[in-house]
Amino acid sequence: MISEKMKPFVENNSAIRMMFEEGNRLRAKYGAENVFDFSLGNPSVPAPDCVRQAIIELVNEENPTTLHGYMSNAGFEDVRQTIAKSLNRRFGTAFQGKNLIMTVGAASGLNVILKTVLNPGDEVIVFAPYFLEYGAYVRNYDGVLVEISPDTETFQPNLAELEEKITAKTKAVIVNTPHNPTGVVYSEETIQKLSAILEKKQKEFGSVIYLISDEPYRELAYDGVEVPYLTKYYDNTVVGYSYSKSLSLPGERIGYLVIPDEADGSEELLAAAAIANRILGSVNAPSLMQKVIAKCVDAEVDVAAYDKNRQALYNGLKELGFSCIKPQGAFYLFVKSPVEDEKEFCQAAKKYNILMVPGTSFACPGYVRLAYCVSYDTIVNALPQFEKLAEEFGLRK
Ligand code: PLP
Repeated sequence: MISEKMKPFVENNSAIRMMFEEGNRLRAKYGAENVFDFSLGNPSVPAPDCVRQAIIELVNEENPTTLHGYMSNAGFEDVRQTIAKSLNRRFGTAFQGKNLIMTVGAASGLNVILKTVLNPGDEVIVFAPYFLEYGAYVRNYDGVLVEISPDTETFQPNLAELEEKITAKTKAVIVNTPHNPTGVVYSEETIQKLSAILEKKQKEFGSVIYLISDEPYRELAYDGVEVPYLTKYYDNTVVGYSYSKSLSLPGERIGYLVIPDEADGSEELLAAAAIANRILGSVNAPSLMQKVIAKCVDAEVDVAAYDKNRQALYNGLKELGFSCIKPQGAFYLFVKSPVEDEKEFCQAAKKYNILMVPGTSFACPGYVRLAYCVSYDTIVNALPQFEKLAEEFGLRK
């Protein structure tokens, strides 16, 4: 018998699995090249060559006992120092290795920090649309998810509603920029205003509110847009980073948390987070990957390939009459459904072998997400199919 807590997750998972199976069914019937699957956020750009080189060097040259052994639950000290120095060079911060905890990707990092700070009943605020897993992560520690409704004009966070919804029970606010599913990058002005609200509310309630910055898409930004480094604006910031997208290593499960000295109770948080890493069952982040990251700390994937896809898909869809804001980061386009029920729109798109994710999966109905981490040819070949879809919905006669 599975637990009551698990039941809704199992039910929800069958919807995801159905979509995955639908993709496989269409590929088997029409051939992979004739299916336009924009449903998955799996990087299409390979990891930089530095990763392969580093793996070969490490396996050939390192002592296997240390290479594959346990280490401190927070991760290898030299690796954490190398990453801290790289962050300091890039963002003018002053982190030391001790401020970092190596984690099993961003998903695990978020679980570690939420386990570290949440008491049952504590509230965690998220801005719709948002990565729906946040709800599961918060409930893992008996926290309460509080949703802020979307600002569909800009998809910047709705700060007026944030101010209203912060209570004495608010323990954390999660932000994600560049953003899944809209591709929006939160501007410096937004971050300043958000920080000011959190400062004010901390004083008002005499509480500590952590700002958790979920940053798997930090390196995927276009048109020279700056992605503000949040610890510089608000002391109680905890950064959750991942190499899943920045180095195209989602299956390797590697990332880190940054808990700056300025954060309230920093030392205690760092010690507790290392223990949370252990008792959540990760124990420590994968050792080989930690050492790979240290060797490739400033390496980058070919962001230009995603940018080319972004331009082609955004311009193509706009010309066809679809409505969407131009993403500045990540690899997603959030398109307004031409009918209120976006699931109907997704269903219709399947007739043209186009797969996309309904906005309901991000707590934002009326929109669909297209992940453009696909081959350029997929986009070029999908546009005539989108044209048929646009005609069906009267966008283009
Ligand atoms: N946060 C957001 C917004 C994501 O989109 C994802 C993955 O797609 C994650 C966290 C989890 O990333 P990771 O693979 O590093 O666990």
